[in-house]
Amino acid sequence: MKATLDHVGIAVGDLGAALAFYRDALGLEIDAPEDVASQHVRVHFIDVGAVNNIAKLELLEATSADSPIAKYVQKRGPGLHHITLRVDDIAAALAQLKAKGARLIDERPRPGAEGALIAFVHPASAHGVLVELKQAAPAVPGGRHRHHLHGLQSSVTRHALGDLELVSLSDGFFRLDGGLMFGMIPKTLWSAQVTPDDRNRITLAMRPLVVRGVRTMLIDAGIGDKEDAKFSQIYGLDRARHLDHSLAEAGLRPEDIDIVLATHLHFDHAGGFTVRDAAGSLRPRFPRARYVVRRGEWEDAMHSNVRTRVSYRTDNYQPLAEAGVLDLVDDDQTIMPGVRVRRTGGHTMHHQAIWIESKGQHAVYPADLVPTTAHLPPAWILGIDSYPMDSLTAKQAFLREAAEREALVFFDHDPAVPMARIREQNGKWHIQQ
Ligand SMILES: [Zn+2]
Ligand SMILES: [Zn+2]
Repeated sequence: MKATLDHVGIAVGDLGAALAFYRDALGLEIDAPEDVASQHVRVHFIDVGAVNNIAKLELLEATSADSPIAKYVQKRGPGLHHITLRVDDIAAALAQLKAKGARLIDERPRPGAEGALIAFVHPASAHGVLVELKQAAPAVPGGRHRHHLHGLQSSVTRHALGDLELVSLSDGFFRLDGGLMFGMIPKTLWSAQVTPDDRNRITLAMRPLVVRGVRTMLIDAGIGDKEDAKFSQIYGLDRARHLDHSLAEAGLRPEDIDIVLATHLHFDHAGGFTVRDAAGSLRPRFPRARYVVRRGEWEDAMHSNVRTRVSYRTDNYQPLAEAGVLDLVDDDQTIMPGVRVRRTGGHTMHHQAIWIESKGQHAVYPADLVPTTAHLPPAWILGIDSYPMDSLTAKQAFLREAAEREALVFFDHDPAVPMARIREQNGKWHIQQ
């Protein structure tokens, strides 16, 4: 096993005092902070590596009293907290350490900052030092078209929500014309937020969401793999890592999915509902699943018009009806305990958001009502929405409700931010940093 130093973690009690030393006195540059929600920690990375070397310092700031960092600082005061070694295959590294009798805090990898997988080794086995192993997020081809905030993010992230587990997956990336994505917003404004490529396209992720509760549900399924080279070129498909990788990384097989729930039937959401088998016929991708679709959306998708035709491809959903695995629902309702569909309209007449609740905690998958963090401003509405004024009304209500419930908001198309909480500040909507 080869391991290289990734960073040294420093537990901080008073961030201002820490910055006064590391930033002001030493003159080091501090990266934008990133929250690791599962640990109630905010991390501030400081690049201290030589050329071609990634070594960093990481200031760890507790964001709640029950954060492990808060407990550490309370017990021992601020100071050296852990060292992080980067490995290529974290599962293999853990297996090797276990076989050699090392005491592991994490038997299985879990999500860390920057889309990495991490696991801790107990200080008892590492001569008094807490050792974190880290497998970095995979590098993404085409990463030169980067989002302005972070690198592209194609890894699985897991989130506990009461009795439920939410797993954000990835079906890779595609590109759409920036004008289509921002409607009436002038390019001078949106291009300051998101950099277009030389064909004016912006990079979007596809992020289906798994909900594990009494049953295992998949919300949307990405673009799938039925499309040809021409389609792939037009939409700049980058599916080097796609839904199958992502399901495997989450420890799931297609036959584990009990319910596939559609927010709507556009090809970037329903493309992965079906596959073409070796004989060339179309069949449901998830062999044991019932597929749940809103009736109005189904009718519209089966009877597209000249404006909607480009987004609706019957190969993605008609085979579900033929296979007898389709359940059409008429109204807002609970699909499985904790998971409720609510029509938003706007994007399509029967587009729906998925609200998830367990033990008083909330999450929501607004789908194309708020596809990326750049779409938080209410008037930043997709040019392809069929009913933009309905989008506006629905989005304003959505933003208020999501903030009030402190809901985890899952952004289906954001290339860098799979999920965040949101808040309003001085009349503007932001993700919580
Ligand atoms: Zn759509
Ligand atoms: Zn979409």
